[in-house]
Parts: sequence; structure tokens; C-alpha cells
Amino acid sequence: MAKIIVSACLLGLPCTYRGDSNHCEKICRLAGQHTLIAVCPEQMGGLPTPRPPSEIVGDRVITRYGQDVTAEYRRGAEAALTLAQLNRADCAILKARSPSCGKGRIYDGTFTGQKCAGNGIAAGLFLDSGIPVYTEEELDRMVL
Ligand code: SF4
Repeated sequence: MAKIIVSACLLGLPCTYRGDSNHCEKICRLAGQHTLIAVCPEQMGGLPTPRPPSEIVGDRVITRYGQDVTAEYRRGAEAALTLAQLNRADCAILKARSPSCGKGRIYDGTFTGQKCAGNGIAAGLFLDSGIPVYTEEELDRMVL
């Protein structure tokens, strides 16, 4: 039985910027064999739900309306990492393309739907700390 940090929206919590979820049945079913620990780094950083969409622009996180929310994103990422470390999590399954949770490819900061190489703030922190990160699109590659 592994301990897996999971983006809360993938488990069905209505915590996305729109106030809905990204429910993924295949991930929810992992709870039958593993311990799933839900995190939403954006909520954990103190941001409201719903909230304006944000993207990473250079080394900052900016809302569609130009507000700098970098501090909230970093605070939430650190809180999620602390939870992972306290639980000695084996890995994390994080929502693809999110400015917090995305791994490998994220929206490019232009709010046009274009993507570029990069990690969300929380996913990058997890990877830097040695915690394997998978997106919901990589479940077949997960090693537990
Ligand atoms: S921060 Fe992560 S967990 Fe929270 S809504 Fe965005 S993708 Fe889902």
C-alpha cells in the first residue's frame, strides 16, 4: 500500500478556479489499494474558490487581471510539500497543465490556451524534493 498525494480536484472536490472539479474515477478507485491524501495548493495558499485564472509568467504567477499571486502559490506549494513529507508520501498524482499542479507542460502565460514546457509551482517543488510526480494522464507509467 502506497501513500499518494493527489490533486484534490481529481478526487472530485470542487476546488478549481471555476469552483468545479476534475473528477477522475480511475484515480478515486486507487483508494481501494492505497492511501490517498488530497491537496489543493491554491486553496492551501489562501486563495478563494472560485478565483481568477492564473498562469506562470517568467518567475511570477499572475491572474488574468494582472494581480501577482506568486506568494500564495508558493505558500500553498510549501504546505502541500510539508503534508507529503509528514506522511512520507511515495509519489504524487497532480493535475496536468495547472499553474500549481502541472508537470512537464503548462499554459504559457499568454492566457490564449497555448502551452509550453514547464512545471506548476507545487509540482516543481515536489520534483525538486525528490517526490515522483505523475499527471492523471500518466497513470499507466506509475511505479508503486
Ligand atoms: S491547485 Fe491543483 S488541486 Fe487545486 S484546483 Fe488547481 S489543479 Fe486542482
